[in-house]
Amino acid sequence: MKVIPYGKQAIDQSDIDAVVKTLTGDFLTQGPKIQEFEERFSSYVGSEYAVAVSNATAGLHIGVMALGLKPGERVITTPITFAASANCVRYAGGEVWFADIDRDSYVLSLESTRRLIESKPNGFFKGIIPVDFGGLPVNLEDFRTLAFEHDLWMIEDACHAPGGYFYNSKGIKQMCGNAEYADLGIFSFHPVKHIACGEGGMVTTNSKQLYEKLIRLRTHGITKENMIQNHGGWYYEMQELGFNYRLTDIQAALGITQLAKNIEGVKKRNKIADRYKKAFNGKIKYQYLPEGVLNAHHLFIIEVNDRKGLYDFLRTQKIFTQVHYIPVHTLPYYKKIGYGNADLKNAENYYLKCLSLPMYPTLTEEEQRFVIEKTLYFVNG
Ligand SMILES: *Cc1c(COP(=O)(O)O)cnc(C)c1O
Repeated sequence: MKVIPYGKQAIDQSDIDAVVKTLTGDFLTQGPKIQEFEERFSSYVGSEYAVAVSNATAGLHIGVMALGLKPGERVITTPITFAASANCVRYAGGEVWFADIDRDSYVLSLESTRRLIESKPNGFFKGIIPVDFGGLPVNLEDFRTLAFEHDLWMIEDACHAPGGYFYNSKGIKQMCGNAEYADLGIFSFHPVKHIACGEGGMVTTNSKQLYEKLIRLRTHGITKENMIQNHGGWYYEMQELGFNYRLTDIQAALGITQLAKNIEGVKKRNKIADRYKKAFNGKIKYQYLPEGVLNAHHLFIIEVNDRKGLYDFLRTQKIFTQVHYIPVHTLPYYKKIGYGNADLKNAENYYLKCLSLPMYPTLTEEEQRFVIEKTLYFVNG
């Protein structure tokens, strides 16, 4: 019996052909594939602009910089996320404050965020970074209202959710990362995520100004537009300090063929989720799905009392589950700097019980039946 991991990329011949074709072309980086990937991605999620970057962490970093975060300024995010959602604020010298999660949907709680903001003087916080955790879209329309009341910017960390959406109060579909309510959307193309480029990321926005800033920050802060001087055709200017956060054309070629398969992939993920729910209904708690929301299902998360027992038992069956995530505020680095010491009970209780079961489009029905059978066997004792 082979190992069943919690997540897995799927590379087929069309992916291989696209990469090989790019390898033998004129550009290995910053060529036509980058632009094509950016155009296809923005049209997929419904944003005006998209900027391909070397990974989502880089995208988050230049995202907070483009929004003007300065040292000492404070940003709120969820403790139940990958550390990168918080780290980007630290790169810019900012402070990370955590609000609690919703007990059933596991995403950043609007009420907890509101309480934290309103417990401080006006202007105390500068931004919010909600995360579409596990693939579940955050209701950003509600968060936008809160952000507007307190003059905050907002970055949607949509790394788990390409293809996810929610319906707003007017009944209009809002794709994750469409930048309708958030200033920026962030995606990852790490192989455990929906779209695999090896490494890679995308920043989406509807703001031309932010787009131009992101383009400069991606390449050292160098520009040929609006220059102060011009010495000739060779001349460029570095007007601010940026980075080399570029994606290669080789990766972008892979991103294009992977993106084309995502609609089908999200459908398959939801089919798998439906089978889990049917088997576990009334027996095992799983991530709550609010009305009018499509979970893109990067993960399928359950809660069980003996989580370590189940994790260890499933490993003996070659089912490799995972825990998402160790609450960020309890990681030694964040514990040491501990801003706010907020009451994050929901996040801490969630962490004691959560487990992510295998979830990827190529998980077979037979493999899934095996996972369900072993999980129920352990839980029922
Ligand atoms: C994976 C992930 C990131 C970071 O993505 P990289 O492309 O590996 O830098 C950021 N936020 C969340 C929620 C993630 O899951």
